[in-house]
Amino acid sequence: HVREADKNDQIEHILGKFKLSKEYLNKVMELMLEEMHKGLDPVTHDKADIKMFPTYVRSLPDGTEKGDILALDLGGTNFRVLLINLDSGDIKVKSKVFLIPQSIMTGSGIQLFDHIAKCVAGFMNAEKLIQNNKEYPLGFTFSFPCHQKGLASAILATWTKGFDCSGVVGNDVVEMLQEAIDRRGDIRVKVLALVNDTVGTLMASAYNDQNTKIGLILGTGSNACYVENLDNVKTWDGDRNDPKQVIINMEWGAFGDNGCINFLRTEYDTEVDKTSLNPSKQIYEKMMSGMYMGEIVRLIILDLWEKELLFVGHRDHSWSTDYRQALYTKGSFYTKYVSEIETDSGVTYRHTKSVLEQMGLDRPTYDDCVIVQYVCKLVSRRAAQLAAAGLAVLLNHINAPNVTIAVDGSLYRFHPKFKKNMEKAMQMLVLPHIRYQIVLSTDGSGIGAALSAITAPGFK
Ligand code: ADP
Repeated sequence: HVREADKNDQIEHILGKFKLSKEYLNKVMELMLEEMHKGLDPVTHDKADIKMFPTYVRSLPDGTEKGDILALDLGGTNFRVLLINLDSGDIKVKSKVFLIPQSIMTGSGIQLFDHIAKCVAGFMNAEKLIQNNKEYPLGFTFSFPCHQKGLASAILATWTKGFDCSGVVGNDVVEMLQEAIDRRGDIRVKVLALVNDTVGTLMASAYNDQNTKIGLILGTGSNACYVENLDNVKTWDGDRNDPKQVIINMEWGAFGDNGCINFLRTEYDTEVDKTSLNPSKQIYEKMMSGMYMGEIVRLIILDLWEKELLFVGHRDHSWSTDYRQALYTKGSFYTKYVSEIETDSGVTYRHTKSVLEQMGLDRPTYDDCVIVQYVCKLVSRRAAQLAAAGLAVLLNHINAPNVTIAVDGSLYRFHPKFKKNMEKAMQMLVLPHIRYQIVLSTDGSGIGAALSAITAPGFK
């Protein structure tokens, strides 16, 4: 048996790299700012990891907007149709979730958009929006990588998340949706804006709080957008009239793809990346978002078990095969477990025990629980600190006296300490004269798409 003190030293040594110093975080900030400049300059844009796409969303809501707007939210297996009623600061939302059958996810693009248009028509019928023959504006949240040509024009770069409809990549998805709607002939709908989920989140929050200048997603993946001064956007090809600003979709998850943050990465990060669907892509995202956090924790626990530093009591027992099986299965440690484990604050470790037992890791000892919780804390705190470094870059760059940051995503929403850890790190990194608050933007993607439509120049 390894002596207790040695054991703790070894664990500390193995996990040491998850503790990020202020110097490391400052270095991350410096590198990210450099990448942002590269992304915004046409000369260096192609080489930039952070693409800094201009979204064509220029006007932010001021809270006086009124009207009924439709919104579509497509980004996974389910998609939602929403009717948003805005009434000078007051928002009412009606929505319905529709399933996209597998056959449509991998069928033709025409079939996909016909299916979507059919769901919109079904929703409008149910909500009695057809009788008055009025034309409804629609905002489309489409969370797939697109090259935008205008507020209502977006060329799909590639499908992700299990979608693979033929004849869409390289085409304008707004046009395809509008054509499908018009083909039906029974509904009057005009697609006025396409946004991604970060922009939706920012816009939804801006309706009630005009200081909102940053939108952040911490869910399956991570991404951010912010309001940038047009003078700084050298890649901008539109007019330079008022408002002299545009929301930039950073696609910040790809930060580090050129290896610049390798000094921070651990062997576990490398392993997560290697076994992922997109090796050597989305390096920053893989260190901090929901799709990967549980997996990082699993790999550490497995390593500690193999080094005889964890679940020691079960080593020679017949249960050890089950332990092996649970720990060796990729994806078996869900990110929601990290949240559950970190809810334990006393000495009973009720949630931690329950999670380990759900995984088939029976009868953990007190020490096992302490160590597993410690691993979760270090991994989630590092994630919060990395997100904080990104936000601090934006706050210092925007350099406005008072900024609201709108956040959405299940990791941020449900992890018990994410916000607190993020704020703690930001206190160290944000310039002292800047005030900021971080708010949860519920239902942001739908409401934000509707607001992007209603503030679009074409809206009457
Ligand atoms: P998306 O980003 O796909 O739009 P979500 O914001 O719901 O959707 O994020 C889903 C991600 O959030 C998943 O990767 C999942 O692991 C993670 N997640 C879900 N529940 C929790 C939780 N309770 N605590 C932490 N992460 C969670």
